[in-house]
Amino acid sequence: MSDPDCIFCKIIAGELPGQIVEEDERTIAFMDINPATRGHLLVIPRAHSRNVLEIPPEDLAATIATAQRMAQRVNQRLEPAGINLLNACGSAAWQTVFHFHVHVIPRYEDDPLKLPWVPAPGDPDEIAAVARDLR
Ligand code: AMP
Ligand code: ZN
Repeated sequence: MSDPDCIFCKIIAGELPGQIVEEDERTIAFMDINPATRGHLLVIPRAHSRNVLEIPPEDLAATIATAQRMAQRVNQRLEPAGINLLNACGSAAWQTVFHFHVHVIPRYEDDPLKLPWVPAPGDPDEIAAVARDLR
């Protein structure tokens, strides 16, 4: 349920400070200490799970539902131009805190964030081959 070495478990337990903005039975939402933009929030399940591969579906559903609620509140109160929801799974995918979390990132017309890949058409045969691997 809880990992003694996990900083997000410590925020849930009140052992580390956090700007908590929403809580329910299964989830909690708090401000990111290194905000990508004004209003950047994190939504986490109370029960410790490492990532999207391991989280029980009930906790995942509850976390996504809270992320939606927070996105709606951000939209209403901060009036951003857009919102990104982001999740990282594994160091190679930029995960740095290994307690599942969804970033809610308000977006503004003049913010500095960039799409992290350059969209370009793929090879149709390769796309079809990987689609076969995934069916
Ligand atoms: P990720 O890199 O996707 O694993 O995201 C981890 C996020 O947690 C980063 O955006 C950090 O800024 C944020 N973070 C790390 N420590 C804390 C903390 N003590 N309170 C709030 N946010 C934190
Ligand atoms: Zn944890």
